[in-house]
Amino acid sequence: MKITRITSHVLGYDLPESLGYSQQYYNKRTSHIVEVETDEGITGWGECFGAGNIALANKGIVEKVIQPMVLGMQALDRDVIWHKVYNLMRDHGQKGMPLQALSGVDIALWDIAGKAAGLPIYKMIGGAHREKVEVYGYGMMLRPENVDSLVSRFMDEATKIKEKGFKAVKMKVGLGPKDDLRLIESVRRGVGDNYRFMVDANHAYTTHDAFYVGRAMEEFDPYWFEEPVAPEDLDGYRELRASLKVNISGGEAEFNRWGWRNLLESRGLDIAQPEVCALGGISEYLRVLALCHAHFTPVVNHVWGSAIAVATNLHLLAAMPPLPGGLFPWEPMLEYDTTHNRFIDDLLTESLEIKNQVKANNGTVSLPTGPGLGVTPKRDFLDSFRICD
Ligand code: CA
Repeated sequence: MKITRITSHVLGYDLPESLGYSQQYYNKRTSHIVEVETDEGITGWGECFGAGNIALANKGIVEKVIQPMVLGMQALDRDVIWHKVYNLMRDHGQKGMPLQALSGVDIALWDIAGKAAGLPIYKMIGGAHREKVEVYGYGMMLRPENVDSLVSRFMDEATKIKEKGFKAVKMKVGLGPKDDLRLIESVRRGVGDNYRFMVDANHAYTTHDAFYVGRAMEEFDPYWFEEPVAPEDLDGYRELRASLKVNISGGEAEFNRWGWRNLLESRGLDIAQPEVCALGGISEYLRVLALCHAHFTPVVNHVWGSAIAVATNLHLLAAMPPLPGGLFPWEPMLEYDTTHNRFIDDLLTESLEIKNQVKANNGTVSLPTGPGLGVTPKRDFLDSFRICD
């Protein structure tokens, strides 16, 4: 079964309101879906991390750089393809956009392999360690409005996400240390005691500010403090982890086994958050997962993007071995976008129904059952939201 064509579908629409994280506000939702076709009629789907103009540049890498390297190759030889592509792109980037582009292609090749075998991806990996996956809802994005208004908005939104049944909620910070602490306090008030919430800084802080916020947030008892400092600042991560009570999490901006080796050996993470649509796809994710577990670092996948990314991560979370195991084992969670996202809600021929499942099943979702990813995008939806040919 040979690869005959690779297509990037970059989709976009205008959001009903501006949303923000510590680095920027944005008005458009973007998604980058990859389609790999074969001469036996089996088509695979994948997704690349990266919004806006990054997605358009990644489309160029997928179609103009990777496609010519792999046309005519055996679609089932995904590890051979991964290494051919990586080795040929290595001189031009071992991290970032080349890896994001390769990720979408690799995920699509796993979808093809599953369809050829008649097995869901979690079975291809080795089986489901759990039949249901717990889900946390992220929301509480920044808005271009004054702090008082944002503080009351965050409290209200945290309450609403909890009421939808999610196991935990995650908020953004990024206004500056003092205002961020007001936001953190309001989210704790919104969810009440004995409920998990997490704080995501998207690497906004200096190490000194991260210590200030990290110590002051202790009285509100968040579960983790995500990307407190720049991903390059491995010493900062290690110092924060050694001193703060809250779990330090991160890793969404790290790539492939070599980047992750350095990150894990620096001992700065309590919880690792690999992004399968960026770090090199499912093939490389499995190697990174093994590295994380070799360092006894628990993993909660970073999830961003469309229903293709959500489905991919459901398979990976199901197939993740318990670490360290036990009668009541530590459980990973699926990260889920509670903001306006038509690329989750409306993309698929059969919806994953995450929100309905979360509400009905105590914050958990079951696994896709079909072969491969077990999900298919609607052609007419791809056509109507495509922003670049
Ligand atoms: Ca994050």
